[in-house]
Amino acid sequence: MLASATLTSRIAGRLQRIGRAVVDGVLPPRCLSCGEIVDEPDALCGQCWSGITFFAPPWCMLCGLPFPHPMGEDALCGLCARGRPVWDQARAVLRYDKNSRRLVLGLKHGDRTHIATAFGRWMYRAGSEVLASADLLLPVPLHWTRLFQRRYNQAALLAQAVRAAGGPDVAADWLVRRRRTPVQGHLGPAARERNVRGAFGMRARRSVVGKRVVIIDDVMTTGATVGECARVLKRAGASSVGVLTLARALRTGA
Ligand SMILES: [Zn+2]
Ligand SMILES: [Zn+2]
Repeated sequence: MLASATLTSRIAGRLQRIGRAVVDGVLPPRCLSCGEIVDEPDALCGQCWSGITFFAPPWCMLCGLPFPHPMGEDALCGLCARGRPVWDQARAVLRYDKNSRRLVLGLKHGDRTHIATAFGRWMYRAGSEVLASADLLLPVPLHWTRLFQRRYNQAALLAQAVRAAGGPDVAADWLVRRRRTPVQGHLGPAARERNVRGAFGMRARRSVVGKRVVIIDDVMTTGATVGECARVLKRAGASSVGVLTLARALRTGA
């Protein structure tokens, strides 16, 4: 009796899901990372969810690096205490590691631009402090040759999604990439900084004077790219520069 009741409710649940898929006119929702069928659209399956590290307080007031124990609201991590970053505050949704790589790269290489909508909502939530008083979102630009290859800039896609989730306006082409920088994958922090120096600029007749801007990118690795963008924006007169990324790589042991 109990077994058949469970079976009935399982079938009912299944029918409900199928019904909803039919009503929505789409296939059943799939995990954003692995493609398993899930209950809700724009979600992760249990296994992918449990493998991914979502950043949460307590964290460094400046860069959002999570602390293992509460440290007080104004606490800084070792890196920020040693040298203040160029930008004022940074936040990321999740840790970039072997478990999240597939999810994050889905945005970059797959034809899965719809997942940006879900990421935008996550970023809007994780970045609430950075976005609170922001006037503009500025995606990190791709060089046009790379844009041509890839057809879209994933940072611009994320910025639009953050805007759609309730964020401020997007100034999509205000930051420009002056030269194509070599791929940074294998470079260390100092080499990455040299790699991007002078790579960015402001588009003519666009002004960020007195504006509170937030740089948007998919992954922050050493911070060299967003650091260089922040330098450009501060020099151009921005009153504050925040950084909001989907993912952030941490050095092992951090
Ligand atoms: Zn999954
Ligand atoms: Zn920090």
